[in-house]
Amino acid sequence: SHAELLSIIIKCVNFAAIKHKDQRRKDDKETPYINHPIGVANILVQEGNIHDPIVIVAALLHDTVEDTDTTFEEIENIFGTEVCNIVKEVTDDKNLPKAERKRLQIQNALNKSHKAKLVTLADKLYNLRDIQESIPIGWSQNRVKEYFKWSKAVIDGCRKTNFNLERELDLIFAERVSED
Ligand code: NDP
Ligand code: ZN
Repeated sequence: SHAELLSIIIKCVNFAAIKHKDQRRKDDKETPYINHPIGVANILVQEGNIHDPIVIVAALLHDTVEDTDTTFEEIENIFGTEVCNIVKEVTDDKNLPKAERKRLQIQNALNKSHKAKLVTLADKLYNLRDIQESIPIGWSQNRVKEYFKWSKAVIDGCRKTNFNLERELDLIFAERVSED
């Protein structure tokens, strides 16, 4: 029912807000980290026209395991197996070195489920817009350039998933190419 879905969505936003409460984004304003997962879910609804609550809940939770003490078991118990599996698909293995994680994101993109690809597209769109808005603290122009290049490679593995999100991403990449 509507009431049950609303209850789950609010429980999820609250859960993510508590988990990310001490974290900040890498921008100079030190934006609260929770703005990011909420913004990713908002992109999916408003721009991707996605209204599947499983995808929206997974988007809200997508960085909890990677960046906080949250476990997959916790997510599975509270939000169910389907949500948990999507979060698993978009979570880097923290035991691996950073360069290897970046390489694996490109390699694994192709094998992701449709729902995990949606979360990945919205996540990258949010982060690229964030960087366009203000360059993260301490990043050189070259690092920004490398980040755009890597993001494009990940996104190219998530194509034919959502027309609107891919169009927005392509507009961002087209802007940058013309700057180089
Ligand atoms: P990233 O370089 O991948 O940092 C970007 C990530 O930070 C985003 O994907 C996003 O992830 C998160 N983030 C937080 N705040 C912002 C923001 N305001 N705008 C955009 N993204 C934000 O990860 P690390 O900082 O962990 O650096 C590791 C990698 O960077 C290594 O591969 C290393 O080799 C490379 N590196 C490159 C350098 C260079 O000059 N080229 C220099 C140093 C490192 P999320 O969605 O999870 O929040
Ligand atoms: Zn993210």
